[in-house]
Amino acid sequence: ISDEKKPDKWVFSTCGYCGVGCGLYIGVKDGKAIHTKGNPKHNVNMGTLCPKGLSEHDMLNSPDRITSPLIKKEGVLSASSWDETYTKVADEFKRISKEHGAKAIGVIGTGQLLTEEFYTLGKFVQLGLGTNNYDGNTTLCMASAVMGYKQSLGSDGPVGSYEDFTHADTIFLIGANIADNHPILTLHLNKNKKPNKKVIVIDPRASKTSQMADLFVPIKPRTDLALYNGLAYIIMEQGWEDEGYVKANTNGYKELKKHLQNYPPQEVSNITGIDVKTLYELAREFSAQDAVLSAWTMGVNQSFMGTDTVSAIINLHLLTGQIGREGAGPFSITGQCNAMGTRETGFTSSLPGYRNFGDEAALQEYAALVNVPEEIIPRERGYKYAEIIDAIDRGEIKALWIVATNPLVSFVNQEKLRSTLAKLDLLVVQDAFMSDTAEIADIVFSAATWGEKEGVYTNSERRCNRANKAVEPLGDSKSDFDIILEFSKQFDGVNEMLFNGWEKPIDAFNEWKKVSKGQLCDYSGITYELLEQEGGIQWPCNEERPLGTKRLYSADIAFTTKDAKANLICADWFPMAEPISPAFPALLNTGRTVEQWHTRTKTRSIDILNDLAPEAWVDINPEDADVLKVKSGDRMAVSSARGRVEDVVVRVTQSVRAGNIFIPFHFNTELVNTLTNDSFCPKSGEPNFKQTAIQLHSAEVP
Ligand code: SF4
Repeated sequence: ISDEKKPDKWVFSTCGYCGVGCGLYIGVKDGKAIHTKGNPKHNVNMGTLCPKGLSEHDMLNSPDRITSPLIKKEGVLSASSWDETYTKVADEFKRISKEHGAKAIGVIGTGQLLTEEFYTLGKFVQLGLGTNNYDGNTTLCMASAVMGYKQSLGSDGPVGSYEDFTHADTIFLIGANIADNHPILTLHLNKNKKPNKKVIVIDPRASKTSQMADLFVPIKPRTDLALYNGLAYIIMEQGWEDEGYVKANTNGYKELKKHLQNYPPQEVSNITGIDVKTLYELAREFSAQDAVLSAWTMGVNQSFMGTDTVSAIINLHLLTGQIGREGAGPFSITGQCNAMGTRETGFTSSLPGYRNFGDEAALQEYAALVNVPEEIIPRERGYKYAEIIDAIDRGEIKALWIVATNPLVSFVNQEKLRSTLAKLDLLVVQDAFMSDTAEIADIVFSAATWGEKEGVYTNSERRCNRANKAVEPLGDSKSDFDIILEFSKQFDGVNEMLFNGWEKPIDAFNEWKKVSKGQLCDYSGITYELLEQEGGIQWPCNEERPLGTKRLYSADIAFTTKDAKANLICADWFPMAEPISPAFPALLNTGRTVEQWHTRTKTRSIDILNDLAPEAWVDINPEDADVLKVKSGDRMAVSSARGRVEDVVVRVTQSVRAGNIFIPFHFNTELVNTLTNDSFCPKSGEPNFKQTAIQLHSAEVP
């Protein structure tokens, strides 16, 4: 770095994009963030960063930033004062609450917030506003993993550590294109020097990740639950279980064995397209190897059978005792930088500290810990994300407050969503960027973003990392923490009851430590100082475990079910939620690319990322390209029963099978969620983004 470009200081922090949680430094000169560099001492990334992390400082001065609160006047969003903006939203919330009940207010949060902010938001929404119709955008990516862990192991919480990628003998990567979506994880995989190491990638699409595999298993789309049931069948048939482990640690063996009679190898081969010999080879790995790791992401979670598919994977680990040991375990990889923090601090699928809504004693304990009346704690979960949208459509929810997420690119069936949001009396968007959703808001709270505020993020391996403030919030924007605290003062007695004396994120963090103490996700031993000193700490961290815990469910951490035994889950595979038809004879798969982040609100003004990935594309098999008479570089259109996407550039590739295409979902110019359907996992509420029946159109074949 030349002298004039040399930062005055480097600020210790953590990447604010994906759930890998890389440690970094933000270089600041004259009050502006001008560089980002990896932290060589950080346990996660050892100094490296992916293209997004390396250019993260650039997003702070994006022309898309919102620099003051905005109120729509005569159809135009116009700058306003904070006082006027808070008052206007509060007046509308109070009116709606009085006329229709507090549950007529819905709130959608995000895994982009810091833990302190998400905890504060959830507390305010549920205990202050009094609505439990509150969910996070994490339901679009992680909810199935949450519910799968809960039904199988008793509690949410990824089991292992990144270190397990280094120690495993066999690593299954299932519906997980880590090379694009969690690139720094590949370092841990490559550090594994075991002579018998085997990487097996199970995916309907050949990706950058499958190029790293020893064995690539191109499974037919959305047949994975049948595969894991079939592998469990073979393990039981061959006596490859760890009998001692099963007896001592699980319930439901007999029931599972009976259930799996519907999944004999030939039947499973017919469903999945994987030959019987390979099925036996895959099943054998679980008993032949000392340590087996199964890591998955959206290919598994984003399914109408997502929760049960997660449990079917966990079944394999429970049957063979491949859990709670170095290199062994089921491992969901999270999407966003603080998806984990949102899961733990709760108020969505559970109350803070993984306390279940139905557990009266736990609710009372929580009320006592935070000194609020028991009766204001919600007894049941409110609507999930998609149910909130449906409730707006029915006219039941009248006001929606969306925090740092952009459903007008990220949610399924865009046309329906847009017409549903138009029915609201009030749409409030809190964001740092003028997103597609912020554009249609009635009122905008202008938020600060990564680098302008402080707190903690927790990554995929339960590692809590420190994120520091490097520069002041742009213009008249404020941290989400400050916005929530100040807004709460508009409601009589709420700030005093919930946030008495709170001024800084540390106040929320200290309460969160108290609330989580003694729970599986115990943060009580963590301090901001310790996080910087150690390069993050994995929960549980407390007096007995002052430097955290590498993996759950080892000898001294029991499952959190009533009898401390895990549940083997009987789950059934069902054919496609939306089958192909003569009108829509092909299947669309959606996903991401390493150079862009989610709906690009943060990355669309970063030149280097846009040079690398300027627009969406469609991957199409050569057979289909021949029929359509298209070649790479041509343009084509794609339609479904819900809409049409025009003018997408073609990439002809063997990476997708004939009759299947892939389009990344990031781009609002080629809005792929115009096509996707609204089918959801009934247990988690997660959308089935990955299979949509579509028709392909080209200039020659319209
Ligand atoms: Fe950030 Fe994820 Fe890239 Fe690491 S891998 S630099 S956390 S986006």
